[in-house]
Amino acid sequence: MGRRKKMVERVTALMGTPETIRNIGIVAHIDHGKTTLSDNLLGGAGMISKELAGKQLFMDSDEEEQARGITIDASNVSMVHEYEGKEYLINLIDTPGHVDFGGDVTRAMRAVDGAVVVIDAVEGTMPQTETVLRQALREHVKPVLFINKVDRLINELQVDSQEMQVRLGKLIDHVNKLIKGMNEERYKAGWKVDAAAGTVAFGSALYNWAISVPMMKKTGISFNDVYDYCKKEDMKALADKCPLHEVVNDMVVRFLPNPLQAQKGRVAAIWHGDKELPIAKAMMSADASADLTFMVTDISMDPHAGEVATGRLFSGSLTRGMEVYVSGAAKKNRIQQVGIFMGPERLEVEKIPAGNIAAVTGLKDAIVGSTVTTLENMTPFESIKHGSEPVVTVA
Ligand code: GDP
Repeated sequence: MGRRKKMVERVTALMGTPETIRNIGIVAHIDHGKTTLSDNLLGGAGMISKELAGKQLFMDSDEEEQARGITIDASNVSMVHEYEGKEYLINLIDTPGHVDFGGDVTRAMRAVDGAVVVIDAVEGTMPQTETVLRQALREHVKPVLFINKVDRLINELQVDSQEMQVRLGKLIDHVNKLIKGMNEERYKAGWKVDAAAGTVAFGSALYNWAISVPMMKKTGISFNDVYDYCKKEDMKALADKCPLHEVVNDMVVRFLPNPLQAQKGRVAAIWHGDKELPIAKAMMSADASADLTFMVTDISMDPHAGEVATGRLFSGSLTRGMEVYVSGAAKKNRIQQVGIFMGPERLEVEKIPAGNIAAVTGLKDAIVGSTVTTLENMTPFESIKHGSEPVVTVA
């Protein structure tokens, strides 16, 4: 069997079992290393050549496209990661790092259940780190932390091993203070980040290595060893022993929730309809046989298929030819293609069950923020907001 065919089979098998899915975003202040980290994850998972990962497809955007929230990037990728002998499907939604793209970050947060917050070890938290963290918490998206550019602490700031650990500890404390200040309830419920527990990883995306307490236990590599490898400028050896993609994807699989675990809390946070209705229960349990509820978080242009609406499927299953209501539109729309991502490629499939990120064509009335459902009178999802300003309102 060809490599591609095998990968298609793996991806389609995994999307049918929500326990093996993780929908995540990587969020960061600009230049802290989000792109370099994403490239590592994709390259490591063997889904794409390292040279290709992270490249964006640009297209001309006209006024109508802008008005409807159509974006210019191909920003969703999926990868298969093996953890403790079991395969997982990690759907990674790209989130722009620039402050002007705050609205896009919030859209992406709507689709995911967990976030990897990337912080430059030298710069520490920046205004945009706070903004993206706040957005994640508001959308009920659980954070884990990746402290990047640790090599700079050692080779540029010339701190010693002890000072390095003190600085990293202070940075973690600071992030926890932010989380506590932004959402004390979640903080108390165990959403603080904790190196000893394994929800913090440290590393260098540029040099392809990372370490976490679980990885230290597995490999026997300590902070002092990390320091020595960096000091000796032998980070290649460190990357062989502690590859970044393995450390970060292990952390994602182990500590970020699967859709079944996540949707209960997320639906309560982003949907304000009657929680006793069957549809509320279906969404909270990611019931694939219930009515369809799908929220559009991105619309992009495909050179062959035309407009592709990407979003999060909370309940039901998407199939070709399905007739659906789009919030704010008078007439039903007919779903044409349904697809998921394999690497950066959109892969057409017969059926996509709840809990996945799906990409569909045929939703001609959809805008970013639309609620798409088989129910005639469903309360739409809360409109996607950034800060206190509504960025997109659902008509
Ligand atoms: P983004 O804006 O968050 O996507 O950041 P990029 O991934 O584009 O990285 C910004 C800059 O930091 C680039 O010049 C990278 O090469 C550099 N960079 C990324 N990760 C590291 C790292 O771990 N160590 C060092 N020294 N530089 C890094």
